Amino acid sequence: MRNRLAKIVATVGPASAAPDNLKLLYEVGVDAFRLNFSHGSHEDHAKAITAIRKVEKEAGNAISIIADMQGPKLRVSTFDNDKIELGFGQTVILKNSAKPGKDGVIHLPHPELFKVLKPGHVLKFDDGKLMVTITEQGTDHLKARVDIPGILRNKKGVNVIGAVLPLSAMTKKDKIDMKFALEQGVDFIALSFVQTTQDVREAQKVIQGKAGLIVKIEKPSAVENLTAILELADAVMVARGDLGVELTLEHVPTVQRKIIAAARALGKPVIVATHMLESMIDAATPTRAEASDVATAVYQGTDAVMLSAETAIGRHPATAVAIMDRIIMAAEQDPTYPDYYMRSNLRPQATVNDAISQSVRGIAEVLGVKAVLGYTMTGSTVKRIARERPPCPIIGLTPNAPMASRMALTWGVHAVVMQDPKNFAEMLEVTQGVAKKHAGAVTGDKIIIAAGIPFGRPGTTDTLKIATID
Ligand code: PGA
Ligand code: MN
Repeated sequence: MRNRLAKIVATVGPASAAPDNLKLLYEVGVDAFRLNFSHGSHEDHAKAITAIRKVEKEAGNAISIIADMQGPKLRVSTFDNDKIELGFGQTVILKNSAKPGKDGVIHLPHPELFKVLKPGHVLKFDDGKLMVTITEQGTDHLKARVDIPGILRNKKGVNVIGAVLPLSAMTKKDKIDMKFALEQGVDFIALSFVQTTQDVREAQKVIQGKAGLIVKIEKPSAVENLTAILELADAVMVARGDLGVELTLEHVPTVQRKIIAAARALGKPVIVATHMLESMIDAATPTRAEASDVATAVYQGTDAVMLSAETAIGRHPATAVAIMDRIIMAAEQDPTYPDYYMRSNLRPQATVNDAISQSVRGIAEVLGVKAVLGYTMTGSTVKRIARERPPCPIIGLTPNAPMASRMALTWGVHAVVMQDPKNFAEMLEVTQGVAKKHAGAVTGDKIIIAAGIPFGRPGTTDTLKIATID
């Protein structure tokens, strides 16, 4: 078991996809691997999945696999000379065309855009590095003024500010990719550019419960509909890359806090993503600001922190993971750490599950237990216990192997696949063994066991046992 409670997600890419590299990344601290379907072939992804499952089996420890969909990422067309220069204050023409554009003319192969764009709307290109404002609407074109000048190259991304686009969060490519990922048995599908609850429902129709759904919050409309969207989803990602372009940069920290608080209240795992150790794409150590950013997310009570380019194409993927691991541990070992995330003051629901979960935290705080062990079929008991953030690891015991892999994303949870015990006496014996093996418990240590009796029926956790290791 890892010596920390918050989890690490690492993105797989050319720098990490070889089986030996994936194994190394797991060993230094990765709990969940993210496959980015904006890049790589199905064959590449299938190879990575096979290698990760092999590591998972050998280690006897659950690992989550996340298939991240590209979503409706808008792009400019190409240019006659591969690029054009946009001068400050210059007027440019925007046209709905897939043909190459030229000096002063940008082609956008997205008819939907031209249905909604009006004077006053803002377009950002290349992750916000360039910006234009629409000034005039012609019959077959729009005119725009360049506010942030620079070089615009072929196929660079476009973000539209100030308009809700009539685009589904699922493209044709996403549907094909999702179907493939589900056949491969991934644990989560991550949906990009979610705007409405309708987007979530459409994706769930395709997924049909075969994987959990992570909503990526990177559009202002998703922030506005946050709680309704989170209620439907299984987990959430603070997708700070696009969020910083779609919103203004200075709102990313406040929106991060808002998303974490909303996810914590609902007991859904939350991942803080993008630029966490960005300088480590090249450098062997992060900046102090980056170290502080990772720690801040941990203090805010996030379930997981994520590496993107650092492990996908960076020069030091394993070092980035190892450093992230150390930063998380240092924050969690700070005696004031519980004060920060506890301040959110979550209220339990009037359910047996939450009564049990709150009691688990109370007992763990009073007795300083070594671990809490929760029997679970659907993962829900363990998730509600994790929502309470008890000051000890949570061992999820389940006969359901896919559910164990899914639990690996949740704060504090270490999942172990095993059959349910036949009776109470067997439960006491088995849990002692698990606590010794996985949590390093020794004679005299206390553990808490949460179970539903009789065993084996989902949604019946109703019993708490405090046991002493003999
Ligand atoms: P992406 O999502 O890397 O797929 O764009 C994460 C983000 O936008 O931060
Ligand atoms: Mn994004």
